[in-house]
Amino acid sequence: MDGHILPDDIRDDGRPRDECGVFAVFGHVDAAAHTALGLHALQHRGQESAGIVSYEQGHFNTHCGLGLVGDMFSSQNVMERLAGDSAVGHVRYSTTGSTILRNVQPLFAEFSFGGLAIAHNGNFTNGYSLRRELVMRGAIFQSTTDTEVLIHLMATSSYHAVEDRMIDALKQIEGAYSMVALTNDTVFGVRDPLGVRPLVIGTLDGAMILASETCALDIIGAEFVRDVRPGELVVIDAEGLHSVSPFPPARHRFCVFEYIYFARPDSVVEGSGVYDVRKRIGAELAREAPVDADIVVPVPDSGTPGAMGYAVESGIPYDLGIIRNHYVGRTFIEPTDQIRHLGVRLKHNANRASIAGKKIVLVDDSIVRGTTSTKIVEMMRSAGAAEVHMRIASPPITNSCYYGVDTPEKEKLLAARLEIDEIADTIGADSLVYLSIDGLYRATAGEPRDNEAPQFCDACLSGDYPIRLVDLEDGDIPAQLSLLAE
Ligand code: SF4
Repeated sequence: MDGHILPDDIRDDGRPRDECGVFAVFGHVDAAAHTALGLHALQHRGQESAGIVSYEQGHFNTHCGLGLVGDMFSSQNVMERLAGDSAVGHVRYSTTGSTILRNVQPLFAEFSFGGLAIAHNGNFTNGYSLRRELVMRGAIFQSTTDTEVLIHLMATSSYHAVEDRMIDALKQIEGAYSMVALTNDTVFGVRDPLGVRPLVIGTLDGAMILASETCALDIIGAEFVRDVRPGELVVIDAEGLHSVSPFPPARHRFCVFEYIYFARPDSVVEGSGVYDVRKRIGAELAREAPVDADIVVPVPDSGTPGAMGYAVESGIPYDLGIIRNHYVGRTFIEPTDQIRHLGVRLKHNANRASIAGKKIVLVDDSIVRGTTSTKIVEMMRSAGAAEVHMRIASPPITNSCYYGVDTPEKEKLLAARLEIDEIADTIGADSLVYLSIDGLYRATAGEPRDNEAPQFCDACLSGDYPIRLVDLEDGDIPAQLSLLAE
């Protein structure tokens, strides 16, 4: 279902790619400028495209395109065009639909009730099925994203009020998502019934803000109010904020990978600070998988808090044995053989002064295809490491994600094909231990996994998918995909 997968060694570091980030403002004179800043803070959730739609007295203003937020919204002209006191914005890494301009969000449509702009993070697991039905009924799609399905469902709803049309559409959709939408007088925010993807509410100077993560509130000095609850639709207009619960109550299954890797460490998600959780994960790992070593080395940047937790718990000194080059531009990393050959050294280099002659514990957050880990272990050895012990701050990824995260197909996941000792041999480590699933739950939920009613979505680690995979079970994906041919 992934629309766009780069080779593992060319992508940033072979990890699962973040889905998308969303942001919305209602009632602030600098709505678009705040949205641009919010998106900038959410850039880690998607670097392929960005867009903002604002509303100002009778018209919607749009600026969307391929590229980074900082490049797209730095011009005064652009920001002046995005006038108005409400706005929605989006940063994208494509999980369905490829990276083409017409897929860039927010998507905008003119309805009988007026305009609506929508920005979506996640994936509709019955998106292709719904799309096929809509096409059969005469709908003409402009994009290849599943987000547009919601627009068509709203357009063809028999309800009159926008809020009722949205509820009607949401009830037909299955999947993991958080979304924000903007009309001429209202901002909507919604999370799927299980709350797999995050969305938070903030305030700034009396204005209301919605954002994928709290780090996007911090950048504009907004105050965190609360998370949008799983299955909650918040409706923000001149009267204030009211909350609707369109779905039957369900067991919450927040994406545990937000804690492991996706969310920024300075964000607070579902009541827990991500940085603290990652340090606790590292401490659990140290208790579960001790090793006789001289230094603990993080694989930057996402392995850093875990390595700190490991170092504190184990008493082994923490050291920066790998230096990351933060200035590797995406345009430079092109999938040519010549560039591919350079591998991860584009981004990481060994700090020989720390490594030479030492027994090291290398802490990373995950292994996906293994190509990155192989190169990093190799890099440690050529820098003179005496022993390289790999410790992974998550259980093995054995299944694909169908909930809006770009993971490779199951066959390409190293842990789906090989036993742990085989993986250790493949990546060339002296030893390799992953965190257990209960260790992960102790660090995140404060208790072991409840196997009858798990506290999180952990489908990529356990194979236990909490939301029906309608399109996949349908078995008609090729036919449905042909609908998406460009
Ligand atoms: Fe998150 Fe994994 Fe569930 Fe996808 S399958 S939502 S990455 S925990």
